[in-house]
Amino acid sequence: TAFGYRTVALGEKQTMVDDVFHKVARRYDIMNDAMSGGLHRLWKDAFIAKLAPPRSGSRPYEVLDVAGGTGDITFRILGKAHDRAKVTICDINHAMLTVGRERAERRGVADRIEFVQGNAEDLPIASDRFNAYTIAFGIRNVPRIQEAVNEAFRVLKPGGRFLCLEFSQMDLPLADKLYDLYSFNVIPAIGKMIAGDAEPYRYLVESIRVFPHKARFAKMIQDAGFSRVDVTPLAGGAVAIHSGWKL
Ligand code: SAM
Repeated sequence: TAFGYRTVALGEKQTMVDDVFHKVARRYDIMNDAMSGGLHRLWKDAFIAKLAPPRSGSRPYEVLDVAGGTGDITFRILGKAHDRAKVTICDINHAMLTVGRERAERRGVADRIEFVQGNAEDLPIASDRFNAYTIAFGIRNVPRIQEAVNEAFRVLKPGGRFLCLEFSQMDLPLADKLYDLYSFNVIPAIGKMIAGDAEPYRYLVESIRVFPHKARFAKMIQDAGFSRVDVTPLAGGAVAIHSGWKL
């Protein structure tokens, strides 16, 4: 690649990703704040506002939060939705799920969350089940993105919503250069400082660079069968929310 990192094979990629999150699980939440300067909180708020979980009503509301990790998105959904809403967190990494479960206990919401270990590319979940599918800062880690989006379509009920929050490429070339400088230098340095290892963070930064651009990712969502696909750029395009409906 342009930065001299070798392209990893698909199978090898998942192993690297699993190592990274296994290592950082305990420090994951601190790392998020350190690396984004707390901005990830605003992006997550914008994401939940777009999802707009029902605040009242008698209908059940079930969300599948894929790559849900330590539960950040799930807790935010449960905080906004009515008390009969339920979230299933599906993540490939049991270390992240363990931290998520502990946090859920502490917050007193463990009975509203189901934890499932599984791969986004091949979800261990029945079809046509969920009102919404969320994936935040997760899909760029998945080796076969199209498979993951196809799976999202399968597990949603007709009328269900797909929402993805992910890093993207900035729209202005100069900003893009600065962002590169920041991410290739600052992020691995913070990783070394807090987690004691820079290498995994180099890899994560690289995964942002190779993630499909907004329009191409939107096309993949359409190809999976979703309708009314739209994109909301955040932070000058460095982050984006992609949305679609299973109609
Ligand atoms: N959604 C959480 C958030 O926004 O704070 C966690 C995001 S974290 C950056 C990425 C998560 O993706 C990790 O917990 C990792 O284990 C998970 N992950 C990576 N590959 C996966 C896959 N193939 N299927 C499911 N989860 C995966």
